[in-house]
Amino acid sequence: MSESLFADASRRLEKAWKHVVLSDDTIERLKYPKASLIVSIPVRMDDGSLKVFQGYRVRYDDTRGPTKGGIRYHPDVSIDEVTSLAFWMTFKCAVLNLPFGGAKGGITVNPKALSKFELERLSRGYIDAIADFIGPDVDIPAPDVYTNPMIMGWMMDQYSIIRRQLSPAVITGKPITLGGSLGRDTATAMGAFFVVQNLMPRFDQIPEKTTVAVQGFGNAGAVLAQLLSQAGYKVVAVSDSQGGIYARTGLDIPSVRQFKEANRGVKAVYCEGSVCNIVEHEVLTNEELLTLDVDILIPAALENQITAANAPAIQAKYVFEVANGPTTSEADQILEQRGIQVFPDILVNAGGVTVSYFEWVQNRSGLYWTAEEVNQRLKQKMIEETGRIWQITQDRAVSMRTAAYIHGLSRLGEAINAKGTRADYMG
Ligand code: NAD
Repeated sequence: MSESLFADASRRLEKAWKHVVLSDDTIERLKYPKASLIVSIPVRMDDGSLKVFQGYRVRYDDTRGPTKGGIRYHPDVSIDEVTSLAFWMTFKCAVLNLPFGGAKGGITVNPKALSKFELERLSRGYIDAIADFIGPDVDIPAPDVYTNPMIMGWMMDQYSIIRRQLSPAVITGKPITLGGSLGRDTATAMGAFFVVQNLMPRFDQIPEKTTVAVQGFGNAGAVLAQLLSQAGYKVVAVSDSQGGIYARTGLDIPSVRQFKEANRGVKAVYCEGSVCNIVEHEVLTNEELLTLDVDILIPAALENQITAANAPAIQAKYVFEVANGPTTSEADQILEQRGIQVFPDILVNAGGVTVSYFEWVQNRSGLYWTAEEVNQRLKQKMIEETGRIWQITQDRAVSMRTAAYIHGLSRLGEAINAKGTRADYMG
C-alpha cells in the first residue's frame, strides 16, 4: 500500500509507542492485519442480468478475543479503507476493555441504487462468500455506514442456514425480534453523549452556553444532535451528503429528524404534528459547516473530512469524532498546535461496539436486558474509560488521542505478552 489511509491511521500509533513499554514483537505484530479476505459476490439483478460486486473482510488482531467490526456498503469501500477501520476497531475494543479484537468488512456498492430484493441477495451473497472467515467465537460483524438492522437480520439468517443451526451471536445490530439488543440503535450516539457530558465540565463549558455543529445527520449524528439539544446544548448546524443548514438561534432537532425521515434531506423546519414549516436559516456546504464559529464540532459522516487544507480554518474549540477517522494525522497536528481539543473516535464512538458486545453476551446467555439496563451499563463503561484516558492526558501531558492509544496499546501489549512465546518458534 502506498501513502494510504491505513498508513495515515498507523501513524497515530507512533506517538503512543514511546509512552508504553512494549516488546518489539508487539510492535511488529500490530503493524499488519492478521488476515484479509477479498471476495467476488455475483448478484442476479431484478432485470435478469448478473452483476459482480467486490467484498472485503479484514481481521486485524484477535489477541484479546474474537474480532469485531461493522460492514460498510459504500461506492468508495476499498481494502485500504477496510484495513484502516479494522485497525481502529482493534484499539477501540481495547480502550473499552471489551473481550474482542478488531475487524471490519465492506462491499463496494452504492446501496441506494439497488432494490430491496437486490440488496438482500447481495447481503446473503456476502455471507456465503465469507462464512468460513466469521463465527460467534471467531469474528462478529455489525452494521456501519449504509447498513442497518434489516441487513444484519438477513446476514444472521444466511449464516444460520449455512451452519444448519440458529446462530444469533454471529452478528450484532440485528432487529430486536431476531435477538438484537434494546438500545443498540442509539448506542453510538448515547456513548458519545456520555463522553461529551463527562468532558465538558472539565473545561467549564456548560450546555446552555455551548453551540454545536454536526456533520452527518445519520444514525449516529442525528441521535446525538437530539440528545445534546435535549440536554440544553444549542445545535445550530447539521448536514448530510446533500449539504447542510445553519440557524443561529438553534435548530429544532426532532423536527429536522422528522422531516429528514419523510423527505430524505435536511431542512430547517419546525413541525407540529405532521405539519412542518420552514424556519429562518442559511444553507451551507459541508465544507462551510466544518469551519463554522461554534464551540463543538462533531464530524459524524465519513473519514478524512478535517484535513491539512481546512484545519487552519476550523473555529470550534472542541472536536468530538463520532465518525471513524474524520481527521487526518496532518490535520491533527495543526489542530493540536492551535489548541483545539480533539476527542478521538476510538473513545467517542465506542458506544456502538460496546452495546454490540452486550448484544453478543445476551445472545450467548439467552437472557435479555431492559433498555435501562443496557444504557446504565453503557454509561458506566464510557465514563470509566473516559476518566482513565483523561488521567493519562494529565499525567503525561499528551493529547486525548495519544492518551487513548496509550491506554489501548497497554492492554494489547499485556495480552500479546501473556500469550507467551509460542509464536517465537512456530511463526
Ligand atoms: P449513516 O449511514 O446512518 O449516516 C451517515 C450520514 O452521513 C448520512 O446522513 C449521510 O447523508 C451523511 N454523509 C455521507 N457523506 C457525507 C458527506 N460527505 N458530508 C456530510 N455528510 C455525509 O451512518 P452512521 O452509522 O451514522 O455512521 C456515521 C459515522 O459514524 C461513520 O464514520 C461510522 O463508521 C461511524 N460509526 C458508526 C457507528 C454506528 O453504530 N452506527 C459506530 C461507530 C462509528
